[in-house]
Amino acid sequence: MTNKDKSSGHMSLEEFRVAGYETIDWLVDHMTRLEGLPISSKVSPGDIKSTLPKEIPQEGEPFSKILEDVQKLIVPGLTLWQHPSFYGYFAANSSPPAILADLVSTGLGVQGMLWATGPSITELETHVLDLMIDLCGLPSKFHSSKKGGGVIQDSASSATLCAVIAARQRAGGNAAIKKVRAYISNQAHSSVEKGLRIGGLESSQICKVATNIDQSMSIQALKEAIDKDLSKGFVPFFVVGTIGTTSTGAVDDVKMISSIASKSGAWVHVDAAWAGSVTVCPEYRYLIEGLELVDSYVFNPHKWLLTNFDCSVFFVADSKPLTDALSIVPEYLKNSASESGQVIDYRDWQVPLGRRFRSLKLWFVLRSYGVQGLRSFIRKHIEAAEYLESE
Ligand code: PLP
Repeated sequence: MTNKDKSSGHMSLEEFRVAGYETIDWLVDHMTRLEGLPISSKVSPGDIKSTLPKEIPQEGEPFSKILEDVQKLIVPGLTLWQHPSFYGYFAANSSPPAILADLVSTGLGVQGMLWATGPSITELETHVLDLMIDLCGLPSKFHSSKKGGGVIQDSASSATLCAVIAARQRAGGNAAIKKVRAYISNQAHSSVEKGLRIGGLESSQICKVATNIDQSMSIQALKEAIDKDLSKGFVPFFVVGTIGTTSTGAVDDVKMISSIASKSGAWVHVDAAWAGSVTVCPEYRYLIEGLELVDSYVFNPHKWLLTNFDCSVFFVADSKPLTDALSIVPEYLKNSASESGQVIDYRDWQVPLGRRFRSLKLWFVLRSYGVQGLRSFIRKHIEAAEYLESE
């Protein structure tokens, strides 16, 4: 296939259609072959780069040639996360509806930074996040009709960073930074410490609380650490509980953490990045007991809910500290919808300005699988894990 419009290099729409079918065919073939391929690539550092075409071609190449090179030059250097025997790192479920929704999102080529730049992008996102509250049995204070609400972030790391920024705002902003202290268990994910560092804290301001034999945060140790800091005039501003730690799947006692943290006014954030999807099944909701007491919560449908990376759902009980910290309104972003106060501008709920149409893939997944389909997907995984444990 050649590019017809030589002057611009653009594919014609008909060529795009053909290339699109070719790409989906290629992906389906790849998925069909997947089981027989090695999970880990056998290449050495630099091997892949050394085989890549050295220069940008002067004239555009046919699409099929580019796709051929993906097969020949790129696939051999991939670790196959979607391989049925891949058990590394964390679950990274993908599904055909989510893949197609991402294609639609990219194909539409739209931006959802403000409600005004794409009303459907904002309103579908708000709607999908409200649906997630019902689906996962989350507290109603995270609903968009309340003071709080949800937003889709690229990753749990970004969501946790936003929680740090909001908590810092509530604690007095930059002026208070030298006095604040954060508390995380020694099993918390590294992204929490990273978020705190970006938020301006020194290592000495981050207390790594000891854990119990089951790797959950020791409530006694948390209480002692907070009391000690208060007696020295420090300000406890941020406490993180984890539901499903990365190394062992330990679950912190969110209820107890919240009751201790609330006495000092600290923001409580809960990181359930990989395990949070389990609450789709009502029988596992005991794991999030106490969530109605926290300030923010994140989990990743891109880990265990059939939604391709990137899709982290982040909920806050009160959106004001977050938007107060992140909203800056230059002349070129002013518009009457924002000024009316009747719309959500999600750019104020995240670090970047621009944003993809991420809710589309979650919406496709929710509609394609339905509540029962999602529950049976999670239950099958747990059954498999239980079988493994019993062997
Ligand atoms: N928190 C926990 C508990 C995790 O297990 C992970 C990743 O494995 C993360 C945070 C980071 O997630 P992300 O890659 O979405 O930033």
